[in-house]
Amino acid sequence: MAIARCACGALRLILSRPPELTALCHCSACQRRADSPLSANAFYSIDCVEISGTSTEFVRAAESGRKVRMHFCSTCGSTVYWKADASPSWIGVAVGSIADPAFTAPAISILEQSNHRWVQFDETVEPFQGLPSNQD
Ligand SMILES: [Zn+2]
Ligand SMILES: [Zn+2]
Repeated sequence: MAIARCACGALRLILSRPPELTALCHCSACQRRADSPLSANAFYSIDCVEISGTSTEFVRAAESGRKVRMHFCSTCGSTVYWKADASPSWIGVAVGSIADPAFTAPAISILEQSNHRWVQFDETVEPFQGLPSNQD
């Protein structure tokens, strides 16, 4: 079990199983969402996520044109999770909000074309120039 939470603690997720996938993303939307040169994202089946606290939703269009709904704490501003209209049974969680150095390492790194050049990983992370498939 893991707990993800915002900086102030008002918005929390209880994650009862390990993530299905952990991925790094270099796209500009993630850079701005994470206030970081890249984002680290853990994807869970929605049935193992329990959300407590209230969030504000910011909706943006993915490259596919479908909507992604980012949920952030209206007190401290941390984005903790998001849902994509294209994948309603999944929830994305910001790995930073789990703040556990032992958390599952990322398996893939996507949208590498916008990688800051000094950001490098070892061979355990599989790089993709776009997306590995048709998902956001
Ligand atoms: Zn907060
Ligand atoms: Zn991204």
